[in-house]
Amino acid sequence: MHTPNLTSTPDIVVVGGGIGGLSTAFALSRLGLRVRVLEQAGQFGEVGAGIQLAPNCTRILDDYGLLDTAKARGVVPDRMVMRDAVDGSELTSLDLRDLERRYGFPYLVIHRSDLHALLLDACRDAGVDLRTEQRVVAYTQDAEKATATTQDGTFHTADVVIAADGLHSVARGLFLDDRPVSSAYVAYRGTVPVAGAGRPVDLSEVVVHVGPRCHFVHYGLRGGDLLNQVAVFESPKAVAGLDDWGTPDELDTAFERTCQDVRAGLPHMWRDKWWRMYDRDPIDTWVDGRIALLGDAAHPPLQYMAQGAIMAIEDGWVLAEHAKRLRANDGTIDWARTLAAYAAVRPEHCRRVVLTARAWGELWHLDGRQRERRNVLLRSRAVHDYSFTDWIYGPTALFPEDEPAMFEPIPLASADRITASPVRTC
Ligand SMILES: Cc1cc2nc3c(=O)[nH]c(=O)nc-3n(C[C@H](O)[C@H](O)[C@H](O)COP(=O)(O)OP(=O)(O)OC[C@H]3O[C@@H](n4cnc5c(N)ncnc54)[C@H](O)[C@@H]3O)c2cc1C
Repeated sequence: MHTPNLTSTPDIVVVGGGIGGLSTAFALSRLGLRVRVLEQAGQFGEVGAGIQLAPNCTRILDDYGLLDTAKARGVVPDRMVMRDAVDGSELTSLDLRDLERRYGFPYLVIHRSDLHALLLDACRDAGVDLRTEQRVVAYTQDAEKATATTQDGTFHTADVVIAADGLHSVARGLFLDDRPVSSAYVAYRGTVPVAGAGRPVDLSEVVVHVGPRCHFVHYGLRGGDLLNQVAVFESPKAVAGLDDWGTPDELDTAFERTCQDVRAGLPHMWRDKWWRMYDRDPIDTWVDGRIALLGDAAHPPLQYMAQGAIMAIEDGWVLAEHAKRLRANDGTIDWARTLAAYAAVRPEHCRRVVLTARAWGELWHLDGRQRERRNVLLRSRAVHDYSFTDWIYGPTALFPEDEPAMFEPIPLASADRITASPVRTC
C-alpha cells in the first residue's frame, strides 16, 4: 500500500468521488501518477441499491484486477428475462452464460456500495490522495496547468482536472448552459432479505416487468442473500407540472394494473426516498484545454440501458489507456494528445447510449395496442440474437473508427448495425 504525499502537487485532480471519479483515479494511479480526489460529501459512499455491470464493464474490472472480488460480492446470474408487467408473460430473454462466452466476461449484479467500496479500497491501496468535504466551486487554467477551487478558497492545481461531479456538474457550466431534462419518471428502490421477499424468487434471473408507464426490476445481491428491487413509473403530478411529484401514493396507483408478482414486491420498496429520473441532451465537447468532463457530468442517461456507471468506468479506462500510450520514456504524458484522443472516441458512443435509453424507455412503457404490438415483436426475437448487444457489450472502443490515420485502430464491434438490446434493465 502506498501512502499519499498530501503536500505534493498532484499530477491529476479528480472532482467527485462517485463510481466515475474513483475508477478514473484508480486507472490513472496505475500509471504512477499522483492523483487527488476532491469529494464534496463528508464521507465517500453511494446511496441506492443494486447496479448491473455488463461485459463491457467487467472486462475493465478484470483489467484492474478487481473482477474476482466483485464477483464474490455480487451475483452472476444465468438469465435476464423481460416480462409483460400486466399479465406476467415472458417476452424475451438473454442467456447470460452464453453472453459471457460471446464477450469473454460475465454479466454481474452487485450492491452499489460494494462496488464503490471496492474502488475506494483500490484507490487507497494505490496511494490516491482522497479528500472529503471539498466542494469545488470554480475552475481555471492556463497553458500549463488547471485548477479546481474549493468552497473554502483552496486552489488544487494539476496538469489536468477531471470533473466527475455528476448530473448537476458545476464544471459542465464551462462548456454550455444547459439543464437536466426531466423524464417525469421516478424510481423507488429497495432491498430485502430473500427469505422475507414474500414470494418465491429465482435469483439466477435478472427480471424486468415492462409497462404501461411503469416497470419493475428485481435481482439478487450479495451472493444471493438480498433481493434488489426497483419500481419506476411516470408521475401524473410531474406530467401536470406540479412540484411535489413522485410521492408514495403515486407509486401505489401506478402499479394497480400490474400482475401479482410485481405487486408483491411493492411493500418492500423504501418509501422515504425516491429518485426523479433526469438525463441531459448529449453534447460533443467534453474537453476544454486541461479540463475534462467524465461520467454523468458529461453524459447522464436515463437508466434503462443500465450503462450510466459503466460509461463512467469506460471513460476513465479509455483516458488512462491513451495516457499510457502517449507517455514518453521520461514518464511525461502528452496531455493535449491524450485528452484529444479521449474527446475523439467517447462522446459519440455515449450520445448513442443516452438517446437509445430514451427510446428504450418509451418502448418499455407502452400501453394499449402499442403494448400488444411491442409484445409480438419482442416474442419473435431469437434468444441468441446478439445484433442488439454487440455495439455496447463488445470491447470498449479506444479509437474512433473514422480516424484510423490518427491512431492505430481497434475496431468497435459493428458500431453502426444496431440500436439497443431488448433486455437491458436497471
Ligand atoms: C435507478 C437507477 C438505476 C441505475 N442502474 C444502473 C445500472 O444498473 N448500471 C449502470 O451502469 N448505471 C446505472 N445507473 C446510473 C449510474 O448510477 C450513474 O450513471 C453513475 O452512478 C454516475 O456516476 P458518476 O461518478 O459519474 O456520478 P455520481 O455518482 O453522481 O458521482 C458524482 C460525485 O461527485 C460529487 N460532487 C458533485 N458535485 C461536486 C462538487 N462541486 N465538488 C466536489 N464533489 C462533487 C458527488 O457528491 C458524488 O460523490 C442507474 C441510475 C439510477 C438512478
